[in-house]
Amino acid sequence: MPELPEVQTVIEGIKPKILNKKILDFKKYVSKLRYPISQSIKNKITGKLVKAIYRRAKYIIIDLENNQSIIIHLGMSGRIVILGSGNNQLFKHTHFIIQFSNKVKLIYIDPRRFGLIKVLPSNSLFKSKIFNHLGVEPLNKEFSGKYLKKVCENKQSSIKSTIMNQKNVVGVGNIYASESLFLAKVNPLKASYLLSIQECNLIVQSVKKVLIKSIKQGGSSINDYAMVSGKLGNYQNKLDVYGRGGSICRKRTCQSEILRIVIAQRSTFYCPVCQK
Ligand SMILES: [Zn+2]
Repeated sequence: MPELPEVQTVIEGIKPKILNKKILDFKKYVSKLRYPISQSIKNKITGKLVKAIYRRAKYIIIDLENNQSIIIHLGMSGRIVILGSGNNQLFKHTHFIIQFSNKVKLIYIDPRRFGLIKVLPSNSLFKSKIFNHLGVEPLNKEFSGKYLKKVCENKQSSIKSTIMNQKNVVGVGNIYASESLFLAKVNPLKASYLLSIQECNLIVQSVKKVLIKSIKQGGSSINDYAMVSGKLGNYQNKLDVYGRGGSICRKRTCQSEILRIVIAQRSTFYCPVCQK
């Protein structure tokens, strides 16, 4: 599943190609992804200039000049390919294409069809159902040790569940939660309310570090995730614990095996010696 670094990588890939370009056409090839693709999309976006492209949680947001925003979510298996002028390559599972004035095409491919495209008014975007329950962005200043400590107060749930809960902080998916807690030396099973402010500071720093490092590597190419260019991300080769159950801990002085356990139906990997 594309996580925050992968979505950020997609945004950085499409931005130079479509910013300040005009949309010439929108074509859909299926009637629904996770939800029906509205008939009105074509009318709302055709002929309009792209004014900004950014991310909120794992949503790609494309602001147009007419106070409308295109929202795209990659779901479980979505991928965006940008093709330049004269390139008519076809892709299996193409569900919609946005055509731009510079002859660039944005192609949305999604074998499992859990993705989403919607067009909403830009000025009330974050009041919409899609966004109004979401917590802070992990790479923003609001996500601090103090904030996490407050979130953890009176919570019996494991720290891993707490940082993966989108109401608390967005975009910390399964891979990055495991990796961050290893870096912070905190056991993923630890009850949230037991965490000290020092541990909360360390977790927050680790989440930011892991996400930034992954963005620099173009995300993790687990389950065939690929960048806009079709190149694979590289972060999967840098993972310390995720997917390494039964292997020896990467910390040089530690000889422990990495354990795989299940928390809230998700595989969780950690070192029982390094993480307390
Ligand atoms: Zn270890």
